Amino acid sequence: MTRSITILGATGSVGASTLDLIRRERDKWQVAALTAHQSAAELAKLAIEFDAQVAVVSDETCLPELREALSGTSIEAASGKQALCDAASRKVDMTVAAIVGCAGLAPVMAAIEQGGTIALANKEALVSAGDVMTAAVAKHGATLLPVDSEHNAIFQCLSGNDIDEVRWITLTASGGPFREWTQAQLDAATPKQAVAHPNWDMGAKISVDSATMMNKGLEFIEAHHLFPVGLDRLRIVVHPQSVIHSMVEYRDGSTLAQLGPSDMKVPIASCLAWPKRMETGCAPLDLPAIGNLSFFAPNEALFPATKLARDAVHAGGAAPATLNAANEVAVAAFLAGQIGFTQIAAIVAETLESGIGTAPASLEEVLAVDIAARQRAKTILETL
Ligand code: NAD
Ligand code: MG
Repeated sequence: MTRSITILGATGSVGASTLDLIRRERDKWQVAALTAHQSAAELAKLAIEFDAQVAVVSDETCLPELREALSGTSIEAASGKQALCDAASRKVDMTVAAIVGCAGLAPVMAAIEQGGTIALANKEALVSAGDVMTAAVAKHGATLLPVDSEHNAIFQCLSGNDIDEVRWITLTASGGPFREWTQAQLDAATPKQAVAHPNWDMGAKISVDSATMMNKGLEFIEAHHLFPVGLDRLRIVVHPQSVIHSMVEYRDGSTLAQLGPSDMKVPIASCLAWPKRMETGCAPLDLPAIGNLSFFAPNEALFPATKLARDAVHAGGAAPATLNAANEVAVAAFLAGQIGFTQIAAIVAETLESGIGTAPASLEEVLAVDIAARQRAKTILETL
């Protein structure tokens, strides 16, 4: 039996790993839509290889290039934000949400409304929309499967257990490339150094988030929405080897952990095949070669982002969407060489202090908070 699949953000790091897995089981999948932001030529190549029904570039200026590259095929070419949502709302068995940032929120909501299974990598969408997204999942009978490796690990550790008996959910963090750096070194950190992650090969934005630890902050909020055990039962531990992807401790003292190679193909495969399993081609874990696993408490004096995120989710309302939007603006400015590394968290903190709006109750209201917070963050940035 074949299953239909749409990949939002097909040209990115998670998109590429997903398509690699589909290549292994090509006869099991029928590709509906593939989307990208601007990489029209790359998208067209993938759409042809996977015989997609439609290819969408969200940047409208890239449509002529996409049309040209798809001419002579029966693949539909489309562009723009509405076309992206239209593609996401096609009825499919599985949607892989792998767009980076809040730009992925509207298409994820469109995918949720068609009621299928959503494999969610796009954590920023859930952080920003929070209850608005989880309510839509319930309303439309959709299934949300976490692709993020920590959340996928927790999902696996909760399987067959009662969530009411959880004592702790522990998110592991690699600590990023700057884990052992001093304040002075962090102040001078460059984009090139920040995107060179020791364990994971990822897109630029999440790599910077990993270096600031904002990635773990966003994941803390993501975990809160996916696994409602209460904020006081969620904690973060630094585990530099990235072998244990997260853990769940139960009230009897049993801790379940999921271990695996640091390759996103493992959690993506877990979603694609769920509740079964599939081959990934990843090398098995070689524990004697790894030797030691170590654990540390996060250093929030040097890496304040996890505290900012924790405070934002405790505050609730518009704070998580504000945190995410300000972070997206600050990370883009850092990658463009406009600000220093440690200014990222400072801009997020200052944007949060200015208090953007009230609790959003709909997609439109979340997007309004997102826009307002971006404007505020940009104003703060200009005064630096
Ligand atoms: P990436 O930058 O490699 O790819 C992003 C994809 O989104 C590309 O296809 C790009 O064309 C598309 N895109 C970018 N901006 C867009 C916009 N404005 N509108 C529409 N499409 C847009 O990113 P990635 O590393 O694959 O990460 C994707 C998501 O998955 C992020 O939310 C990230 O936090 C999450 N994630 C990634 C990893 C990883 O290992 N890369 C691990 C866990 C979670
Ligand atoms: Mg993760």
